[in-house]
Amino acid sequence: MAGEPQADCLFCKIVEGAVPATVVRETETTVAFRDINPQAPTHVLVIPKVHYPDAASLAAAEPGVAADILREAAQVAADEKIDDHGYRIVFNTGSGAGQTVWHAHAHVLGGRGLQWPPG
Ligand code: 5GP
Repeated sequence: MAGEPQADCLFCKIVEGAVPATVVRETETTVAFRDINPQAPTHVLVIPKVHYPDAASLAAAEPGVAADILREAAQVAADEKIDDHGYRIVFNTGSGAGQTVWHAHAHVLGGRGLQWPPG
């Protein structure tokens, strides 16, 4: 059921502590941890503890938690001191956009120059 932990979901396992991750922040509704394959000096993923397959379905069902993700992303940027020069919050949505993990997540990227448009 949407919102419930999924046995085969990697990020649900990280929420449960069954898969290790370098956690940088945690709230009642979110966890933020370093990406295993960083694409920038700072590359942190912010995820909801509840399981929804992507950001759109999370925002539709639980808009308050979607707002928590954005608030936490900004706090990660402040903690990592990447907010002075600008940073990027990315929600890859759908396989054509590069989504590979089907549990909603925001990428927080910064610490280097970021090109626009993205690839
Ligand atoms: P997506 O491609 O779905 O937008 O992002 C998924 C992200 O999860 C990728 O950037 C990938 O490097 C990261 N990732 C995949 N497996 C793991 C893992 O086991 N631990 C961590 N910390 N990140 C992971």
